[in-house]
Amino acid sequence: CGIVGILGTEPVADDIVDSLRRLEYRGYDSAGVATLEDGQVTRVRAEGKLKNLAAKLAAQPLSGHTGIGHTRWATHGAPTERNAHPHTAGKVAVVHNGIIENFRELRDALSAKGVNFETETDSEIVAQAVAARMRDGLDPVAAVKAVIPSLEGAFALAFIFDDHPDLMMAARNGPPLAIGHGEAKGQMYIGSDAIALASLTNEITYLEDGDVAVLTRSGVEIFDAVDVPITRPRSISEAQV
Ligand code: GLU
Repeated sequence: CGIVGILGTEPVADDIVDSLRRLEYRGYDSAGVATLEDGQVTRVRAEGKLKNLAAKLAAQPLSGHTGIGHTRWATHGAPTERNAHPHTAGKVAVVHNGIIENFRELRDALSAKGVNFETETDSEIVAQAVAARMRDGLDPVAAVKAVIPSLEGAFALAFIFDDHPDLMMAARNGPPLAIGHGEAKGQMYIGSDAIALASLTNEITYLEDGDVAVLTRSGVEIFDAVDVPITRPRSISEAQV
């Protein structure tokens, strides 16, 4: 339901939880954060309110400078910790807002190739499909670009990858998704809306349907639905901290 991503210059988990709090108004039933610890995706997830997640993070801190977080409003699969986002597979972690309508056929095709699914969600297919493309030899950017056109339904997505601390990706088809600019201080952000990012930046670029965004700490490249590089307008948000 709510998405936050940060390419930061210090540990980002607390800032991700703070930004997720700004999205609480949307409602949610569980939450989670993943950051890269020594290059490896490590996640903490909890049922219920963000205070449950914050308590778990206090006991098991995440120190990564690259991370994504999510508040979930379950549509497919019970609101359990196991079904909470971020979802991981191979070397990728993903958070998803919306519904992947064709997840069953995509899941059955991967299951037939021996892939095991861990959750009851529609969202896990995105992680498993990207991981499968990476096993085929594609790099993270190519793998995400290969998978997005196969997804039917509504989605806002954010990704991080093992061994790629200076990379975060986003994709949009339906639910809004904002890129937050902080390249002047070597940071970049992803948020469901400008309010989520208000304490981090007020410089926002909204993705359009079909867009895939590739973020590093020096900025963002956006590709449209037919993979042509495109410039989307950058605006100053009036969302209040
Ligand atoms: N359909 C996904 C799920 O049930 C995402 C729901 C959401 O937007 O939070 O996990």
